[in-house]
Amino acid sequence: MTEGPDATERAGSDIAATLRPGDVVLVSGELGAGKTTFVRGALRALGVTGPVTSPTFTLARRYDGDGVEISHLDLHRLAGAPDEEDEAILADEATAARITFVEWPEMGGELHLTRAPRAHVRLAHAGGDRRAIAVTR
Ligand code: ADP
Ligand code: MG
Repeated sequence: MTEGPDATERAGSDIAATLRPGDVVLVSGELGAGKTTFVRGALRALGVTGPVTSPTFTLARRYDGDGVEISHLDLHRLAGAPDEEDEAILADEATAARITFVEWPEMGGELHLTRAPRAHVRLAHAGGDRRAIAVTR
């Protein structure tokens, strides 16, 4: 449970400490649950200093972390039915050299990522600024 965005960012930075290149982290939860906030915290801990926003319209955004490349996906706009072009992007995105975060993984159809997820984070509204965070590894 977190009481505000800063605490959710810290939860993201905690998970970041356990990640290596090639790891894929799925991040689920309703709109506003804090998925991007969680990923922002993880990216800060991985050495990303610039803005971190949902790549909703671009599907994927790459970042240079401290010695590691990061990919941040948001599959919301696929609405569960990726077309061929989307599939090609997904197939290319999660490589052995990158750490990959995926918002709205359930919208990716069969989610043709080349790698199995390392962790699945689920965020849920719990009243006001509180959020429940569950991590499955
Ligand atoms: P999502 O990516 O799931 O749609 P965002 O992280 O973009 O969600 O937005 C979450 C919004 O909720 C932000 O405006 C953030 O400031 C607010 N918020 C309030 N409390 C929390 C909390 N405990 N954790 C994360 N975000 C929170
Ligand atoms: Mg988001």
